[in-house]
Amino acid sequence: MRKYNFYAGPSTLPVEVLEELKEEIADYYGQGLSMIETSHRSPMYDSVHSETIELFHELMSIPKNYKVLFIGGGATLQFGMVPMNLLKSGTTAEYIKSGSWAGKAVNDARTIGPVRILWDGKESSYTTLPDAASIRPGNDAAYLHVTSNETIGGIQWKEFPKTGEVPLVADMSSDILSRVFAIRDFGLIYAGAQKNIGPAGVTVVIIREDLAVASPENLPAYLRYKIHAEKNSLYNTPPVFAVYAMHKVLKWLKARGGVQGIEKLNARKAGAIYSVIDKNPEFYSSPVDKKVRSNMNVVFRLPSEDLEKQFLSHAQENGMLGLKGHRDVGGCRASLYNAMPLEGAQALANFMQTFAAEKG
Ligand code: PMP
Repeated sequence: MRKYNFYAGPSTLPVEVLEELKEEIADYYGQGLSMIETSHRSPMYDSVHSETIELFHELMSIPKNYKVLFIGGGATLQFGMVPMNLLKSGTTAEYIKSGSWAGKAVNDARTIGPVRILWDGKESSYTTLPDAASIRPGNDAAYLHVTSNETIGGIQWKEFPKTGEVPLVADMSSDILSRVFAIRDFGLIYAGAQKNIGPAGVTVVIIREDLAVASPENLPAYLRYKIHAEKNSLYNTPPVFAVYAMHKVLKWLKARGGVQGIEKLNARKAGAIYSVIDKNPEFYSSPVDKKVRSNMNVVFRLPSEDLEKQFLSHAQENGMLGLKGHRDVGGCRASLYNAMPLEGAQALANFMQTFAAEKG
C-alpha cells in the first residue's frame, strides 16, 4: 500500500506517473526498447524532449523570448552557474539572504565575484521576509537573487521585488509549478526537479534569451547557458530518464487544471495543516511569520523533543512518512508538493488534531 509521503525532496510523485513508467519501462509503445535505452538524438527521445519544453511554456505561460533548459548538477550547480554567467566585471551580485538555501547561493557567488546582501533574515532566525516594495537594486547590480520558497525554513515570497532593468533571478526549486508566477518579471529561474516536477537528476532553467547569449566565452562549455540554449539542451547527453518522467508529470498536471488549478488545491492542503496548528496554540507552534507561510513546506514544533519523537513514530505507524524537520532546524515539516493529494493533507491534519487531543 502506498503511504502518504511528506518528504521534502526527492518527494512524492503522482502514482499515475509511476504506474505509466512501470508499464512502459521495458518496451516503449511496442518499439521494442525502453525510452532510457534509445539515443538522445533519436526521434523517439526527441519527441519527449521537445514536448516537455512545450509543456513548460504552456503550463507556466513562458514568453517566447525565454529558453527552457535541462541541466544536470542539481540546483546547487546553479548557485555557481548564475554568477559565472551573469556577474560581469564592474558589477555586483545582489542577494536576499532568506535562509539556508539562499545562504548557500550567496557562498558560491562569493567565490566568483563581489556580492551585496540587500536583506538578511538572521535577526529573525530566518522566519520572515522583507516587504518586496522595500527592496531596490543598486545601480551596479548584475542581478538580484531570491529564493521563492525556503524549503527548510518554510517561508515563501508572496510578492516579488520589482527590479526594473536588473534581472531578477529566482531559485524556485521547491515551489515551481505550484503557483502562478509572472515569468516576464524574472530574468532567470532555476529549479531542481525532485520536488514538484519529477525525479532527481535534472534542473530546469528558464532564462531570457538576451541573458543566455551574453554568457562569457572563457567558461567551460557545460557551464555556459548560451551553449545549452543554442543546442536545445542537447549539447551533451541530457538526463533522459528524468526528462521522460517530467514529461509525464507535466501532462498529469495539465490534465488537472494546470498551475492555476493546483495552486488552489495547494492552498487548501496547507490551510488544513496551518489551521490545526492555529487551533492548538498550546500544543503546536509555527516559528514562521504568518504573512509568509509556505504552502509547500509547513514547519511546526511540538511542546518537547520527546513529543516530537513520539509524533513522528506514530505518524509513521499511520502511514505518514518524512515528517521530520531538516537536521539543521529540528522539529517537524510536512512537504505538500503538487503530487500530495488533498486526502493526504487532510489525513495528516486529522492525525495532528487527534495527537494533540491525546497528548496535550
Ligand atoms: N534550493 C532549494 C530551495 C532547495 O530546496 C534545494 C534542495 N532541497 C536546493 C536548492 C539544492 O538542490 P539540489 O539538491 O538539486 O542541488
